[in-house]
Amino acid sequence: MSFTKKIVLAMIFGVILGVILNLSNQDGFITNFIIANVLSVVSDLFLSALKLIIIPLIFFSIVCGILSLSDDVSLSRLGIKTLSLYILTTVIAISLGLLFSSFVNYEPIFSSYENISPVDTIESKVNVFPDNIFRSLTEGNIIHLLVFSVLIGISASRIKNKIHTFIKYFHDFNDVINELVKIIISFTPIAVFCILSKTFATQGLETLMPLMGYFLTVVIVLLIHFFVTFPLLLKFFTRLSPSVFFKNIRDVIVFSFSTSSSSASIPFTLKTAEEKCGIDKSIGTFTIPLGATINMDGTAIMQGCATFFLASLYGIDLGFFEIITIVATATIASVGTAGIPSAGIIMLTIIFTQIGIPLEGITLLLGVDRLLDMMRTSVNVSGDLCISCIVASSENKIDSDVYKS
Ligand code: ASP
Repeated sequence: MSFTKKIVLAMIFGVILGVILNLSNQDGFITNFIIANVLSVVSDLFLSALKLIIIPLIFFSIVCGILSLSDDVSLSRLGIKTLSLYILTTVIAISLGLLFSSFVNYEPIFSSYENISPVDTIESKVNVFPDNIFRSLTEGNIIHLLVFSVLIGISASRIKNKIHTFIKYFHDFNDVINELVKIIISFTPIAVFCILSKTFATQGLETLMPLMGYFLTVVIVLLIHFFVTFPLLLKFFTRLSPSVFFKNIRDVIVFSFSTSSSSASIPFTLKTAEEKCGIDKSIGTFTIPLGATINMDGTAIMQGCATFFLASLYGIDLGFFEIITIVATATIASVGTAGIPSAGIIMLTIIFTQIGIPLEGITLLLGVDRLLDMMRTSVNVSGDLCISCIVASSENKIDSDVYKS
């Protein structure tokens, strides 16, 4: 049986078991035992293993990637191109979120509320330059790690001819980490089964009902971004076939859906970029970890829809100035969102503060956020892969035979 089939079956059976557990006696000894001692333990173990390899994986793959960057690819050109495309797709995503939300008729339900005081400033979230790499590593700050790895990579490639042993060790370390990634990923079907059953066992579908309008709007915009924006971008910037793209990224969509974490998906996304999309290592190792950290189209869509939804509930009018503020702050907020479960909803505080929406409104959204998180994470990761394909193809660094097969 193929790997994709195994994952899809694991998802289906996971959801079925989860729903059965949810409907069965919630306080029952057996139900509790299965959820707490089997499903949670396996899910946590798998996610910890993934998180464990993120730091060495990013570090070695970026340094090796830059070392193997041929002289015709300039790192700054690559950086500017990738960043501009990431920001472009994020702005499209928020705009779609706001546009579609404006078609929905939300009734104001909170007539009076206390206005809020501004929370922490945005600069603290966009602090990109590390001053102590060990502190950054223990804090799991991926942006700092990226900056550090790029600096080491650039320095090493300037003296490439003198440091053969260094280069050899780095490539060897890289191979070892990649092998570990393969081992961990081989457990995906079991982990996906446990993660999904746990989610559906603890989150009943009844939490969905009061928020149906908001929920459906987010889902529809996520689908439009996925099935319309990405193919259009691929068509516009490359000659790559969008339908083949969707086929190539099938597994990683399911994977990121189950983990709800772009960061934890990095190993799998990188593997997909190289082995399924044919993206050259030197491009993928740069664009994928960067995208997993700063490019969150799905999150931006949720943030746009949530802001519109709550502004309507609180009877706050959104004029042209507010819309521009939302697009700008949501872009920054989604860049600052960590690629971990539920991070996007926490970053909503930045946007709400700018617009003057009471922060307790966020608690209203929590009922449906677990499910939306899964879907938006898949869109986040697909966006990273779409832009990586575009960047790689513009640099002539995509193997079209691998892409097509
Ligand atoms: N879970 C999302 C991700 O990792 C972030 C979010 O909460 O929106 O991509």
